[in-house]
Order: sequence, then C-alpha cells, then structure tokens
Amino acid sequence: HAKRSGRQQVQLFTPALDDQRRERFALEAALRRALHAGEFTLHYQPQLRGAALESVEALLRWTPPHLGPVSPGRFIPVAEQCGLILPLGRWVRERACEQAAAWHQQGRPLRVAVNVSPLEFTQPDFVPHVHGLLTRLELPAHLLELEVTEGVLVQDLTGTAAKLRELRRLGVRISVDDFGVQHASLSALMALPADALKLDRSFLSGHAGLGSSCAAAPHVLRAVHTLGRELNLDVLAEGVETPEQHALLSGLGFEYMQGFLFSPALPPDELDAWRAARSG
Ligand code: C2E
Ligand code: MG
Ligand code: MG
Ligand code: MG
Repeated sequence: HAKRSGRQQVQLFTPALDDQRRERFALEAALRRALHAGEFTLHYQPQLRGAALESVEALLRWTPPHLGPVSPGRFIPVAEQCGLILPLGRWVRERACEQAAAWHQQGRPLRVAVNVSPLEFTQPDFVPHVHGLLTRLELPAHLLELEVTEGVLVQDLTGTAAKLRELRRLGVRISVDDFGVQHASLSALMALPADALKLDRSFLSGHAGLGSSCAAAPHVLRAVHTLGRELNLDVLAEGVETPEQHALLSGLGFEYMQGFLFSPALPPDELDAWRAARSG
C-alpha cells in the first residue's frame, strides 16, 4: 500500500515540481541575459541618524522589458544558487562605488552601504577587488560600508573574521544585516569584527514571534539595543514605517533608522532631490 500511495504522490507532485523547475530555469536564463543587456539598476535608500541623513543602502532593481519589476527577494536567491551572484555582485559593488565617488567629487559625500552575499564574501578575490575599486575611483574607504549577513559565519568563522578585519583596516565600515533572524550563535556574532548591527525589520512587523503589534516587543528591542551598545556597535532599526514605531524606537535609544517612513530606495537623481529638499 505504501508503494501504491508513493506512486500516487509522484503522480500528484511531479507536474508541480516540473513547473517550479521550468520557472526557475526561465528566471535563471532571464537573469543571465539581464546582466548583459544592462537591465539592472541600483536605487539608494536613506539611513538616518536622528533627523540627519547618515548613509544610503544600495538596493538592486530589475525590471525586465515587457514584465513588471521582479523583487530582489525573488531573484537574489536564484542568482546565489546558480552562481550568477558573483558577476552580479561585482557589478553592484562597481556601480555603488562609482556613485559614492561621484557624490564625493561633487562635494556632498555620502556613505554607501552594499549588500554582500556569503558566496561573494568567500571568494579569494573579494577583498582585493574592493581595495582595487577604492584605489581606482579615489574613493575614501569610510564612504563604503559592506553589509554581511550572519550567513557568512556559517561557512568559516576564522576566515570571515580575518577578512572583515582586513576590510576594516582599509577603513571600510562593516555591518551585520538582518540581525536576529538567522540564528547565528551569540558567541560567533561577538567574534565578528563589525561596526554596526542592522536589526531585521521582522522585529518591527511582528514576524519574529513577538506578536502582530510592535507594542509587544519593546523589551526585546531594548535588549538588542543594549547588546549592541555593550559590543560597541551602532544599532540600526530596519523597516520603520510608522510615526509610532519611530517614537517607540527613539524612546528606547535607537539613533539609526531606515524605512518607508523616511523614504524608499530611490534612483540617484531622486535621492539628490530628496537631499536638497531636506537641507532646505
Ligand atoms: P536587505 O538588505 O535587508 O534590504 C532592506 C530591504 O527592506 C529592501 O528590500 C528595502 O526596500 C526593504 N525596506 C526598507 N524599508 C522598508 C520598510 O519600511 N518596510 C518594508 N516592508 N520594507 C522596507 P529589497 O530592495 O526588496 O531587497 C530585499 C533583499 O534583497 C535585501 O534585504 C537584500 O538581502 C537583497 N538584496 C537587494 N539588493 C542586493 C544586492 O545588491 N546584493 C545582494 N547580495 N543582495 C541584495
Ligand atoms: Mg541590507
Ligand atoms: Mg536587512
Ligand atoms: Mg533583509
């Protein structure tokens, strides 16, 4: 009977699996073409310290012709699995550093934070590539920040820590992204040479098992903030959408925030306009 029901399962699930595989192959092929066709752009989302613009995060945007925009949450995992994240990540670092260098040369320097996938980070040429970019573009290293996730820890803690130290020696700022959702051990996290923690936005939206309203979470938010401060890290809250969340976080001592309440990620010219409008 087990055999029989097994066969039934195969019959039931094979078509769906094929569909998934087909969709994945199609996405992979489209991504490969997109990189060559120049379909990617970078948008920049403000990160505030108090009321002041502290830095921006570079976020990939992809709008294939004849289709709507595809979110990075969908295509980044595919790019990671098929290895395309390596050329794509290089492209992102180069464009983001060029933009940072342009702002610097225009006399309005602004630090740019760039997301780095674990696979990119483990490449032996990662640090040399970053170093080469800073030199070639004459970009002061403090205007570049790299966001790594707890995922880099899983692979090789000693190697990761050494690379992060090397980058910080160059003057590059390091932040730990999506903090609190990937279950890295605290001791591993404490061994990471970093400058900042970015608290995952699920802590605000209630997806971290804290209930559906942020009213249930102040003590958790306070604890994470205290932990960060004890480790001498700046702590940024991601995904701030409402004035209530802003007030709560401010009250708990959070200085650094990012979210739709302030601005979504914007193309460079719109970010320039946003800056100009705020500085009055
Ligand atoms: P992330 O690095 O945690 O980036 C923050 C994400 O939160 C962005 O989503 C941003 O648009 C979104 N966000 C910001 N404020 C709010 C808010 O107030 N409410 C809500 N609901 N969302 C907000 P996005 O651009 O869709 O990117 C998703 C993820 O894709 C990123 O999460 C990052 O992990 C990855 N990603 C994006 N660009 C790159 C890239 O250039 N390289 C790599 N390796 N990953 C990237
Ligand atoms: Mg990020
Ligand atoms: Mg994040
Ligand atoms: Mg995220």
